[in-house]
Amino acid sequence: MFSRRILPPVHRNMHKEERRVQIVRAVKLTKSRFGSFSHETCRDSHTVNRARASTTARSAMFRGNGGKRQVKKHAIIPIFIPHLGCPNDCIFCNQKKITAKLKPVTGSDVEKTIETWLSTLETMDLDTIEVAFFGGSFTGLPIEDQSAYLAIAKRYKDSGRIDKIHMSTRPDYIDRVILDNLKRYDVDTIELGVQSFDDRVLKLSNRGHDSSIVYESSRLIKEYGFELGIQLMIGLPGDSLETCLMSAKETVKIAPSIARLYPTIVIDDTELCEQYKRGEYKPLPQDEAVFRTAEMYKILDDAGINIIRVGLKSSDIIHDGGEINGGTFHPAFRQLVEGSIARERLQEKLARMGFVGKSGSAEKTGVRRTKIDFCSCPDDFSNMIGNSSVNKKFFAREYPQLNIMYKTDSNLAKGEYIIINKENSMKNNEKAVVTVIGKDTVGILAKVATSCAEANCNVIEVTQSVLEDYFCMVMLISIGEATMNVDELQKKIQAVIPEMAVHVMHENIFSSMHRI
Ligand code: SF4
Repeated sequence: MFSRRILPPVHRNMHKEERRVQIVRAVKLTKSRFGSFSHETCRDSHTVNRARASTTARSAMFRGNGGKRQVKKHAIIPIFIPHLGCPNDCIFCNQKKITAKLKPVTGSDVEKTIETWLSTLETMDLDTIEVAFFGGSFTGLPIEDQSAYLAIAKRYKDSGRIDKIHMSTRPDYIDRVILDNLKRYDVDTIELGVQSFDDRVLKLSNRGHDSSIVYESSRLIKEYGFELGIQLMIGLPGDSLETCLMSAKETVKIAPSIARLYPTIVIDDTELCEQYKRGEYKPLPQDEAVFRTAEMYKILDDAGINIIRVGLKSSDIIHDGGEINGGTFHPAFRQLVEGSIARERLQEKLARMGFVGKSGSAEKTGVRRTKIDFCSCPDDFSNMIGNSSVNKKFFAREYPQLNIMYKTDSNLAKGEYIIINKENSMKNNEKAVVTVIGKDTVGILAKVATSCAEANCNVIEVTQSVLEDYFCMVMLISIGEATMNVDELQKKIQAVIPEMAVHVMHENIFSSMHRI
């Protein structure tokens, strides 16, 4: 139940300093209950994951657009530049074999690729378009070749048709001469193919460097002000769960902005493929690859690192001219990983609510089926269900005492899952919290109350204040007999006060967030 002390009244006739103190106190009190009002932290997790302290705190924030998540739309134009004459011979890489078969990428090829992509991307409503040079070790190319490619990308950036230039390379192909040149061409992001922080794994993979160079290169890249990315591989020879976790933790210490996680795939024409055929290398079984990747994902995600890719796409492998021979390729590997994390989080919550799986005692004691809702943000709905409905089938099998409905709630943050026990709604005592913030005008309370009444929601308690010129209201309503769900009610209220930030949150979601 909300206390009226949440938002202390601010009287217009107060002394200015007193009012300022009141406002600060009110904002602090509100923040302590709901999180921050900051627009910076309201943005989509794909683009500002690093701003995330925890999904719980983020989802409790008011959002300036009436509670809707603002999705930053971002597109990458990939330019594949095979590293001709790469002196290295990493055992998983077929670049040496395929570059012999490929024509060198010319400047006009690069322009043609960018123009082809832009002809579609420029018709879309995107926030950022990046040109990214992938496919080999870009900074291992002769510097004049790097400059020739970068000059084309810079021309597009200077003309405003693209926003960023991005490239990937090896950690030992970074020095001040290279970085000075990348700076000259206004490069934004440098991704390092680190693969592992374990020196034995690096040696067995014939990477030609140890992990110490990663720390030095990362330091230099950050010193120059580039955005840093780190790529890690899972399941290379000599790799184990421990080395995977260690690599994820070392990555967190370096604190890149972005990361990619790739399970090892055996591609034709590689030394790894030969080892596989001779029985010397065994690819990880898929469930083990998913498990290790999920453990690494959680470490990186909890540290606020934006994980921009999990697993290779078949188009990557086609681009690289490879045929998959073995390994843990799955076209929806990211969903396998995020789905397994969703299942784990939901299971933890069920355990905290006292629901035990089939192997526990609930079924044996004949507990009647309890109606519950699993909720995620709309983006995570497929993860919650799981690839090929694997999670749905798992919960149906393991928790026969539960009658589970799968729902979305746009108030939830990415990676956040909530369980609502519907037994409470049987007693018609479900409640929701309505918050309204914005420039003070006449009749706001009346409009909100009317919308609630039209939706058959009873107003239980309301507190409102005017902070300077801002109207702030928190209303507790009964929704046990509502004719619409909270998302629909939010839209209904928003429609009558479009200029205000409106937020409607189910009380159970609100309480769950604040219990954690
Ligand atoms: S992974 Fe990179 S460095 Fe290693 S052989 Fe392939 S292109 Fe060369």
